[in-house]
Amino acid sequence: MIAIAKPYLTNEEAQAAYDTILTGWITQGPKVEEFEKKFAAYTGAKYAIAVSNCTTALHLAMIIAGINAGDEVLCPSLSYIATANAIKYVGAKPIFVEVQPDTYNMDPVDAEKKITSKTKAILVVHQIGMPADIDAFQDLCIKYNIKLIEDAACAAGSSYKGKRIGSHSSLACFSFHPRKVITTGEGGMITTDRDDYYERFKLLRQHGMSINDRVRHEAKKIVFEDHVEVGYNYRMTDIQAAVGIKQLEKLDWIVGERRKIAAAYHEAFKDLPFIQLPLEKEGYLSNYQSYSIYLKNGCPIDRNTLMQELLNCGISSRRGIMTSHRETAYKNESTDLTLPVSEDLQDNSIILPLYIPMKENEIRFIIDTFSALVKNKLQDVLI
Ligand SMILES: *Cc1c(COP(=O)(O)O)cnc(C)c1O
Repeated sequence: MIAIAKPYLTNEEAQAAYDTILTGWITQGPKVEEFEKKFAAYTGAKYAIAVSNCTTALHLAMIIAGINAGDEVLCPSLSYIATANAIKYVGAKPIFVEVQPDTYNMDPVDAEKKITSKTKAILVVHQIGMPADIDAFQDLCIKYNIKLIEDAACAAGSSYKGKRIGSHSSLACFSFHPRKVITTGEGGMITTDRDDYYERFKLLRQHGMSINDRVRHEAKKIVFEDHVEVGYNYRMTDIQAAVGIKQLEKLDWIVGERRKIAAAYHEAFKDLPFIQLPLEKEGYLSNYQSYSIYLKNGCPIDRNTLMQELLNCGISSRRGIMTSHRETAYKNESTDLTLPVSEDLQDNSIILPLYIPMKENEIRFIIDTFSALVKNKLQDVLI
């Protein structure tokens, strides 16, 4: 059975976790600080702040951006549901924007149409690792005096116009869930270029505490902390950070290997009729967190049959990215909303296996099986 994804973890990560456990410092401490410094240096951001996952990163970003109850925040519906949920956590309303059919990313033209006097921010997603058009959204934010927040959950190692994701805006949120390109088990990171944001993030992720554990531990004179506002416990552990440091060292190599597999898919599928491959425009570099293919109208096999046939051959696949507005949690407030492009992409896209290392013969088998199925000629492969 070929899996859809696998984290790339080695003895190095296991050893780093082991060593950290034996230091006795296991939650947010020196390893978290080291991981943050290295992640900031890698992305080109001024600061990075580690948190428990990307969903908590997005929640804190909403608070820091000053989003309140009754405000509206634009985001794509075609995204993992955590994107919309983060807006809900602060009592605001997600306003779902249409995506572009070739990149799966939010459409700046539709976004501008949906801006009202209540709009306070745009939450742009770099979908499955493909950067969105950050400049277009930044321009909108300047024009309407609203905030830009990046859901970069899938985009560690991707870049836009020659600069890595994390270095473009004041708020970008990353995930280290095992389904993303590098992992800490669970984990998240926020990057920012603003001193005030950085200071407040540190407070909010740790109960609003004015002095952190490490400072108290190392103090030569007694110090007492104050809790200056209502905060949260969104800390990352040092065990996770130790794993993250090792993963980060491999990130460029991982992205390179993933791009080779994506290139092999592209080369093999580019002339197949009725399918649309991921589009990486000039100046956009994807880490290929996922490889999603859209089946056009007229394709001889429908998406669900294709998934079942692949499974019968021992190949896992997943349906396309979900639309949040059609999930039960959002259905009732979105009854009159239709997003034809997003809905079509969810219903007719398929995600193929992509992880490293993938064996030559596995890649070949996926390519041959998929190509035969979309041409309705599976018998050619099986004999
Ligand atoms: C995975 C993902 C998230 C959530 O990340 P967690 O670290 O699991 O909280 C949020 N947004 C998008 C677009 C994602 O793909």
